[in-house]
Amino acid sequence: MTVEFSLEADGLPLSAEEVFRAWHCPPDGGNAFVEAVVERTLEAARPRMAVRAGYRRLDAREIDLETGPVIGSQLEGASSLVVFLVTLGPGYDEWVRSSFRRDPLVGCAADTIGSLAVEEAAEILEGRVDAELLGEGLGATRRLSPGYCGWDVAGQAALFAALPEGFLGVRLSPSFMMVPLKSVSGVIGAGRRVAKRPYPCATCGIESCSRRRRGA
Ligand code: SF4
Repeated sequence: MTVEFSLEADGLPLSAEEVFRAWHCPPDGGNAFVEAVVERTLEAARPRMAVRAGYRRLDAREIDLETGPVIGSQLEGASSLVVFLVTLGPGYDEWVRSSFRRDPLVGCAADTIGSLAVEEAAEILEGRVDAELLGEGLGATRRLSPGYCGWDVAGQAALFAALPEGFLGVRLSPSFMMVPLKSVSGVIGAGRRVAKRPYPCATCGIESCSRRRRGA
């Protein structure tokens, strides 16, 4: 079963404060000029987003994701896998590029706003998948993506192979980057024996990880 839908950019919970948090700045940007630029860029950004989302649910035996042990432990017991994709569309990437050419600060803001927006869209998709699974009496894992927790980014190839050709207009570059760049792909495990488990940071052997969750 493949599902596709659009999301209203106006419905994505974005704010200048979130941009400053991503930049490790004070909540007001620390500077009235910067704050005004980010607010203006936020206003200009939403109309450039053509947010599309979709997923396909497969029997877990139909796909070998080679996720590595950390993600593998999250997916353990899943009877089916929901492979998903979310994108802001090609127009947003083009706007970020042209913004950088005009004014690097606006370009940085546009880039960060796009990253936050596509993550928010992925959150909405996850909520929709969770509700669908719950309606069937099934549990769901977190959404999990290549490039995190030891899952090599080359894992994108298996995810894209599981989706219809050209799904949502997103393609993979030879280095497994998604084009458009402001896209998120991943998988959600489904089944009676799965749940949103904490990440095993306390016992994880990936020493180089900068996302280690303290106290996990
Ligand atoms: S330390 Fe935590 S976040 Fe980092 S790779 Fe390991 S499980 Fe993932």
